[in-house]
Amino acid sequence: MPKAWHLVRRPQGLPSGEDFALRPIDLPPLEPGMVRVRNLWLSVDPYMRGRMNDVKSYVPPFALDAPMEGGAVGEIVESRAEGFVPGDRVVHMAGWRDEAVLAAGAVNKLPELGVEPQAFLGNLGLTGGTAYFGLLDAAQAKQGDVVFVSAAAGAVGSAVVQIAKARGMIVIGSARGEDKCAFVRDLGADAAIDYSARPILKGLAAAVAEVGAKGIDVYFDNVGGDHLDAALALAARDARFAICGMIGGYNSSEPMALRYIMRVIAMRIRLQGFIYTDYAPRLGEFYRDMSSWIAAGQVQSRDTIFDGIEAMPDAFLGLFTGANTGKMLIRL
Ligand code: NAP
Repeated sequence: MPKAWHLVRRPQGLPSGEDFALRPIDLPPLEPGMVRVRNLWLSVDPYMRGRMNDVKSYVPPFALDAPMEGGAVGEIVESRAEGFVPGDRVVHMAGWRDEAVLAAGAVNKLPELGVEPQAFLGNLGLTGGTAYFGLLDAAQAKQGDVVFVSAAAGAVGSAVVQIAKARGMIVIGSARGEDKCAFVRDLGADAAIDYSARPILKGLAAAVAEVGAKGIDVYFDNVGGDHLDAALALAARDARFAICGMIGGYNSSEPMALRYIMRVIAMRIRLQGFIYTDYAPRLGEFYRDMSSWIAAGQVQSRDTIFDGIEAMPDAFLGLFTGANTGKMLIRL
């Protein structure tokens, strides 16, 4: 019997396993124009934490006691839709479950780009696209810029590091622990800051000196809080900040203190928030550039894989404890 994870309680602070339940689900009959999909890979993403709160945001909250949603890659096992045959690999939003019956319009066939299918949840999917448009459009980053990216060993961050290097930028990345910092340097970063070993502000000041700069031209924010504050403190004149995410605050109800926020005025800093889906009409340019960087070896993927649908809440919670290097995925 197909099964799906349900949110059974709205988490307070860091979620726990008791907030979720894996339950059997009834699938609708396969009507004309529909496909049955067996999921192969499921994605967990930090934004899902926001959907667990009962608040209005850019995506509606998860309903309690209903199957949850999220990115997934699957294989068509039965089709009554023109243009889809069993064996086709598709990407869609009916994740957190092993099987789904969907209208053909809700699935996208994976383009033939010679990559593993799970890449469409990572560097060729939401996280790679977020890195690409956030860096190159929201932050207007250009060759020669000094770019600071937080959570640089994660899915979005590792793509930012590599895209920035492919476009001739100087890159500083922050991450937790020596191993992740070594990974960030292996990706091509010019300096890496272990924020668990010293305050991020001190680490960033040292990294800026290490790359021979006076300040940062671009900040790609994945963390918020002290990381954003350090970036404000060390911003160069006319710096551009792409405000992508603030994972440091997702489990907290405390206000975020920014000691250096007034530097926005003196340094003429531009803060630009953005959402990946804003760029849906421009996905073609992302596929073109990203697939050519992947083919040239300039962008590489690393995944952290949890096996089996039962492991999904643990994989999700691992995003907040730093259990992943690169993209966090569940393999079914
Ligand atoms: P990820 O970076 O692969 O995983 C989350 C990472 O965040 C963890 O590995 C951990 O790395 C770090 N982290 C967790 N708690 C932290 C804390 N309190 N302080 C500092 N670092 C912390 O996740 P992702 O999918 O690539 O997402 C990265 C960010 O982009 C998130 O903020 C997410 O919400 C945002 N995002 C935004 C959009 C958009 O459209 N705007 C789209 C996708 C993602 P360490 O072990 O190094 O701490």
